[in-house]
Amino acid sequence: MQKIIFIKYGELSTKKENRNFFIKILDNNIKKVLGQNADISYDYGRMFINCQNDYENTINKLKNVFGIHNICIAYKSEDKKLDKIKSNLLELLKDKNFKTFKVDVKRSDKNYPLNSMELCQNIGGFILKNIPNIKVDVHNPELIISIEIRLKEVLIYFENIKGAGGYPVSSLGKGILMLSGGIDSPVAGYLAIKRGVKLEAIYFESPPHTSEMALDKVKKLAQKLAIYNNDIKLHIINFTDIQEAIFKNIPHEYLITIMRRMMYRISAIIASRANAKVIVNGESIGQVASQTLTSMSAINEVINIPVIRPVACFDKLEIIDIAKKIDTYETSILPYEDCCTIFVPDHPVINPEKELCRQYEQLIDYEDMIYEAVKNHKIITVTAHEDLEYQDLL
Ligand code: ATP
Ligand code: MG
Repeated sequence: MQKIIFIKYGELSTKKENRNFFIKILDNNIKKVLGQNADISYDYGRMFINCQNDYENTINKLKNVFGIHNICIAYKSEDKKLDKIKSNLLELLKDKNFKTFKVDVKRSDKNYPLNSMELCQNIGGFILKNIPNIKVDVHNPELIISIEIRLKEVLIYFENIKGAGGYPVSSLGKGILMLSGGIDSPVAGYLAIKRGVKLEAIYFESPPHTSEMALDKVKKLAQKLAIYNNDIKLHIINFTDIQEAIFKNIPHEYLITIMRRMMYRISAIIASRANAKVIVNGESIGQVASQTLTSMSAINEVINIPVIRPVACFDKLEIIDIAKKIDTYETSILPYEDCCTIFVPDHPVINPEKELCRQYEQLIDYEDMIYEAVKNHKIITVTAHEDLEYQDLL
């Protein structure tokens, strides 16, 4: 018997025609985490990883890879004869300590002489006969003995470790995450990555009003997301001229609305250049004046690309809960100023009028400033520095 790690795809297995496409991306993503020389083979049902004894480390890394439903350590044998399965099983059970068990058989080789039910009974009876003082408990067994009869081999395993679920990163295409130093946007980014969206991030800074420390904080947050995203490209936009022009020329209750319209315009340009299909951000309905439905509509009207708001319907406590689990919370609450917080008016408009937004924008030369900001923007690639233990969130 060969000891081997194998993966169950979960949600991917519902993607009938595209399954191969998803599995190839998953293979690629796993190689980015385990190294290009990782010994991986797969078919439509399972992916095998031969990791030469490095089981714990390998499994920890796999836990952060989206698109994996379960991770199992199995004993694989190409000898599929029932007697051989039984003797192999007995050998494996030698060092297991249990009082109750159940046998779970999956048979993808439909030509095997016994069906799943018959195999369960036959093997269950054999175990009862050969190991003293144990009994079957189908509801709450101490040990689940899983056996898969596949076309070319038999797999025996005892544990189903939960994987991260979701879709393999980049299988659904690319998005641009508006990443501020706050609590919400890293959580939004994480949730989008989990749905298979490969992210690039965009951050608007306003030096000297915002400091290098604020940028560092955003880089740290990007690092946390890079664990799941396989590195993350961070676009840094100097927003100072635009923000100062808005501050000087536009009635203050509309500052935030207009500023966000500018951010959206720039994000859409960066998205189109990066061939990203969506913008992702951390807006949550009703959280602040710029996140009422009327505000969101007034801000959204300046672009055509869809905006995905993964935390739109979460309340702050739910968002904080996820932020803690993905370890972004402590960084997000560091007190460095964000470019929005500096220019916050006393009474931001709650129901902005689109027509007024358009009129006010004529007071500044925003097209030229946007052109300059995009032309001069910096790009850095942020890499993950640590492996974070995956936590199940939902
Ligand atoms: P967060 O906690 O994510 O900062 P917030 O509740 O403070 O969100 P806003 O400041 O209104 O809300 O921002 C809403 C969203 O707009 C953010 O979640 C983020 O996606 C985006 N955003 C805000 N400021 C910036 C910035 N300086 N750079 C990039 N994106 C930003
Ligand atoms: Mg913010």
